[in-house]
Amino acid sequence: MQPASSQDISVPANESALVLFSGGQDSATCLAWALSRFQRVETLGFDYGQRHRVELDCRETLRQGMSRINPQWEQRLGPDHTLPLQALGQVSETALTRESEISMAATGLPTTFVPGRNLIFLTFAATLAFRRNIRHIVTGVCETDYSGYPDCRDDTIKALQVALNLGMDTRLVLHTPLMWIDKAETWRMAEQTGSNALVELIRDESHTCYLGTRGTMHPWGHGCGSCPACDLRRAGWERYKSHV
Ligand code: ZN
Repeated sequence: MQPASSQDISVPANESALVLFSGGQDSATCLAWALSRFQRVETLGFDYGQRHRVELDCRETLRQGMSRINPQWEQRLGPDHTLPLQALGQVSETALTRESEISMAATGLPTTFVPGRNLIFLTFAATLAFRRNIRHIVTGVCETDYSGYPDCRDDTIKALQVALNLGMDTRLVLHTPLMWIDKAETWRMAEQTGSNALVELIRDESHTCYLGTRGTMHPWGHGCGSCPACDLRRAGWERYKSHV
């Protein structure tokens, strides 16, 4: 097991980051990315009645695992925050929060789409960051994972950064390290950031499956093996392993 210090870059003293951390593959990779760059890193999760609550249970296991991978990360890892957002579940008629089928809706968006979810998450994150004197917010949104969520797009995030900074009269920076990479490249980023130890931690302990059960342990991690999230994760893992 190799430490990830070779991937560290210097950042100004006292720069802190808040990572939106659901316990899935993407946000776990983002947490390691932030730990390798910022002096202090806090995590934020949301409980809005989602089906895959097991993601929330994976968060502490992943945080502890990352502390073991790199002593510097252990020093940098600050408190974890969980905000209850049950109202989001109450206004969303989607497959993530209701017992409806996961499929493509007439709009062309998956029925897993919770309208405006990331706008709400990032706004709450900005409020928390402001109160905790944190300037950097990190989120694992991505334009290239085929889900087509409009609030994950680069233009949306850039526009929201402007709106938040105007509305709070501050200079927050929204970081999206996964914006232009696919799932195979996300595994590669984990390997470059924390070596195979991080890849194995994320593979074994992160949760992506929509159905909310840990399910069978596959070569690419736990999950039902047949929902769209499992399909995406399996395909990314197989492309990653075929090029290692
Ligand atoms: Zn699944």
